[in-house]
Amino acid sequence: MAVANFHDQEAEYAAYRKSGLAYVANGLNMGTDWIRLHRTDCPFLGSDRYERLTSVAKACSRDKAELIAWLRINHGPEGDGYQVCAACERTGPV
Ligand SMILES: [Zn+2]
Repeated sequence: MAVANFHDQEAEYAAYRKSGLAYVANGLNMGTDWIRLHRTDCPFLGSDRYERLTSVAKACSRDKAELIAWLRINHGPEGDGYQVCAACERTGPV
């Protein structure tokens, strides 16, 4: 397992998502208040039909625990360094 980072890398991010569901730390270049943990299927991440999704920097992992550990090291604990997306929490196991 590894955390994969995407910033202005549309093709790489699309390929990563195509190969399976993952978790996404989104908003990494927008300041701590904007960092959210999502799943790759979350509608709030936008649509690559209309947007350049990786203009907003992302870190991804197939392993939720790994991505949370990465977030804690790089940005701080939940509530301080990042938030969990409420929509992703409702729609199933984030
Ligand atoms: Zn979400």
